[in-house]
This record gives sequence, structure tokens and C-alpha cells, in this order.
Amino acid sequence: MSEEQDQNYPEIREAVQRLCADFPGPYWQKHDRDRSYPIEFVNALTEAGFLSVLIPEEYGGSGLGLRAASAILEEIHRAGCNGGACHAQMYTMGTLLRHGSKEQKERYLPKITTGEIRLQAFGVTEPTSGTDTSRISTFARREGDNYIVKGQKIWISRAEHSDLMVLLVRTTKRQDVKKPTDGMSVLLVDMNDAIGNGLTIQPIRTMLNHATTELFFDDLKVPVENLIGTEGNGFRYIIDGMNAERTLIAAECIGDGRFFVDRATKYASERSVFGQPIAKNQGIQFPIARAYIQISAAAEMVNKAARLFDEDQKMGSEANMAKMLASEASWFAADMCLQTHGGFGFAEEYDIERKFRETRLYQVAPISTNLILSHVATHVLGMPKSF
Ligand SMILES: Cc1cc2nc3c(=O)[nH]c(=O)nc-3n(C[C@H](O)[C@H](O)[C@H](O)COP(=O)(O)OP(=O)(O)OC[C@H]3O[C@@H](n4cnc5c(N)ncnc54)[C@H](O)[C@@H]3O)c2cc1C
Repeated sequence: MSEEQDQNYPEIREAVQRLCADFPGPYWQKHDRDRSYPIEFVNALTEAGFLSVLIPEEYGGSGLGLRAASAILEEIHRAGCNGGACHAQMYTMGTLLRHGSKEQKERYLPKITTGEIRLQAFGVTEPTSGTDTSRISTFARREGDNYIVKGQKIWISRAEHSDLMVLLVRTTKRQDVKKPTDGMSVLLVDMNDAIGNGLTIQPIRTMLNHATTELFFDDLKVPVENLIGTEGNGFRYIIDGMNAERTLIAAECIGDGRFFVDRATKYASERSVFGQPIAKNQGIQFPIARAYIQISAAAEMVNKAARLFDEDQKMGSEANMAKMLASEASWFAADMCLQTHGGFGFAEEYDIERKFRETRLYQVAPISTNLILSHVATHVLGMPKSF
């Protein structure tokens, strides 16, 4: 079966390709240079309904699953664009749709669908806890009808461009709960109310254009009605979002990998050195073929993880494995593509160096490779935990 026949949602893929054609390399190069938010691209995706595919039809969305969302993000990345500016709107849905109350969904989802408000921020990581989420210390204490939030988060992307943030806090201290992951809760923070009233945002300039920030909470008031689910069970809710996130990021890596393979194949066929196209040399062909094989294999695991999520089955291990395979395959493809382009790979106008930087992130965020290996070693293979 050809790759095209094998891919699901062909109509969605074609529509995304058409939209992305309006956002060519120079558009991304400019935003990358300025580290500015690609608002026109995000608006176009919103208007076309791509960012609300996971929202049920009763709230104005398409009511599709993670496989459709994966197809959208994969195509965005294959076209040389970047979903990092808005992908959180898709994966935060896992938390809100599955665990939010009817009132919360009615209040927010129709407005998210139309683009009136954006849900683009996911606040989990803290400077001192790192990957060990059970050690977060941002604390929300109950005072009447409000939670009062104090603490700090780091690497919270798109916080300046979002109206809402899904925020993980402690509502009971770690030492006072049985399981380390108990006692955490999820709050939906209205960013427009919060900024300047207990929330300060400080941007962090990084090696790629990702609008990431540090957040400082100094007695921020969040109404109790913005608690998702029940107090103390937040870690369980956030995991649904995290599994969706890992799967969707893996789909972006598949798109990146296909971008690099497409570009390398084309360039190698056109570039003539020593009187023949460089693609004639197996030293050039084989790494391109290897990258294609690795991407194709990883895509199967991404598809499996998304399918299991859509069927509401356990899929944490598959989401992790998909993310690791896809991020390593896209990184191999990135390095291969840069090498194939020789000196031209380093020129901004070719987009290779930008995509190279962008795809490197995904071996670290949203979860690093070592932690995935540790998960598989202990949870799947039953070996003892080292920490
Ligand atoms: C650009 C960017 C955007 C991000 N956006 C968001 C966001 O929107 N929201 C959010 O909540 N977070 C976000 N993050 C945070 C990201 O999820 C974390 O950086 C990532 O999970 C790794 O955590 P850490 O940086 O604290 O690394 P650490 O936990 O400090 O780990 C550092 C290194 O040590 C390794 N390591 C740690 N413990 C072990 C162990 N026991 N065994 C073996 N190796 C180990 C890790 O694998 C890693 O390589 C973002 C990060 C970046 C860089």
C-alpha cells in the first residue's frame, strides 16, 4: 500500500496542505527571527476549524478524535510550518473534555471553537521539580469561594497568547498524602483576570520560536468553580492531557521527518556535483532511505497510540513509545537533511536549519527520552525502579 493510501483522513490532510501553502518559508523565517507569535497562521487554523476538531459537535467542534488531530499536526509540520504555536489547544482538551463539568464545557468550548478565546497554555513544569511532577510545590489554598495560588512554573509556552491555562497545583502537601501523586488539583485560570493580579509572566528566549515563559504566582485568586473534577485527583486528569500531548507531538515529529525526507530527496536529485546528481551516490541515497524507513515505522506506533486514545483504552506506554520513536526518527532525518544540503542547509532561506532546531526540542519536551525508557523498563517490563 502506498503511503498516501495508508494515511487516514485524506480530505483533512489535503485541506491542511492548502492552508499551509499560504504560509511559506519566509513567513516562518520572519517570526523565527523576531521570536514573534504567528497569529495569522493560528487565526487561519481556527477559522478553518482545525483547532476544534476534538471539540464535540454540540459545542460547535467537529467531534473527531486524536487520529484526526494527529493528521492535522503531521501535515502542518510536513509543510514546513510549526504547530507549536497552537497545538496545546488540542491536547489540553483531554483534561477538559473528559473531566470538566457540563457548566465548564458550556462556558468555554463554544468560545474556543469560534476563536473568541484561546486555550493554549498548560502549566505543569516547575524549576525545582523538573520531570518529577509529584514534587511540584505551587500551592492553592482554599479561602471561601476561591483558591489562592502561590508558587512558580517554568517553560510554560504560549502563556502570553492564551486566554485560559490548565494549571496543575498542589492542594495538599506531598508529605500529607498516601501516594505522591495524590493531593494535586487542576485549575482553569482566566489569564486576562490573572495577569497583574497575582500572576506575572516572564518570557524566556530559547533556540527556537516557542513563546515559552516563566510564571510567578503571588496569591492569585482562582474561583473554586474553575476547579476541574474533584480536588486532589488532578494528576489523574492531567495524565489524559499528557498522553494526548505525547501522541500529538509524535505526529508533529512524523511531519517533520517527512519534511526532511521530501526536501533531501528533491535537493539530492537536483544538485549536481562531479557531473552528476548527488542522489546517484549511495552515500547520499541510503541515509535518506533509512530516514524514510524510520519515520514510516514510528508513524505506525503514533497511529496505534491515537487509536487506543480514541477508543478510551489504556495507552500511556504506547504514547510514550510513539513519542520516543518519532522524535528520534525526526532528529535522524533532520541531521541527514542538513548533511545532504551541504553548506546550503545552514542558510536561513532553505528552512532546514530552522526545522532542525525545532524538531530537536521533542527529545526533551514534553518528556525526555530517559524518562520514557525508564517508564518502559519498569511499567512494561517490570524491572525495578531506580528512583
Ligand atoms: C521550549 C520548551 C517548551 C516547554 N513547554 C512546556 C509547557 O508548555 N508546559 C509545561 O508544563 N512544560 C513545558 N516544558 C517543560 C518540559 O516538559 C521539560 O523541560 C521536560 O519535561 C524535561 O524536564 P526538565 O527540563 O525539568 O528536565 P529534568 O527533569 O531536570 O531532567 C534533565 C535531564 O536529566 C534526565 N533525567 C532526570 N531524571 C532522570 C532519571 N531518573 N534517570 C535518567 N535520566 C534522568 C532527563 O531525561 C533530562 O535529560 C517545555 C520545555 C521547553 C524546553
